[in-house]
Amino acid sequence: MNHECTANYSIHCTVKDCKYHKGDENFCSLDAIHVATDEKNPKDEKCVDCKSFERGGLFS
Ligand code: SF4
Repeated sequence: MNHECTANYSIHCTVKDCKYHKGDENFCSLDAIHVATDEKNPKDEKCVDCKSFERGGLFS
């Protein structure tokens, strides 16, 4: 897929390992993302994840 890497300033993200991370800015480049949890009873932010993540950023 030829992904157009333009920052979406509505989605702040610091996951530089993701192929959708806007390299020099801490934003996502997708129009929308999917966020979910793998836990039955999430208690804080560590329990939720961006499920739109795909490996392939700066450090891949
Ligand atoms: S897809 Fe998720 S993890 Fe990847 S840059 Fe966007 S918000 Fe961050």
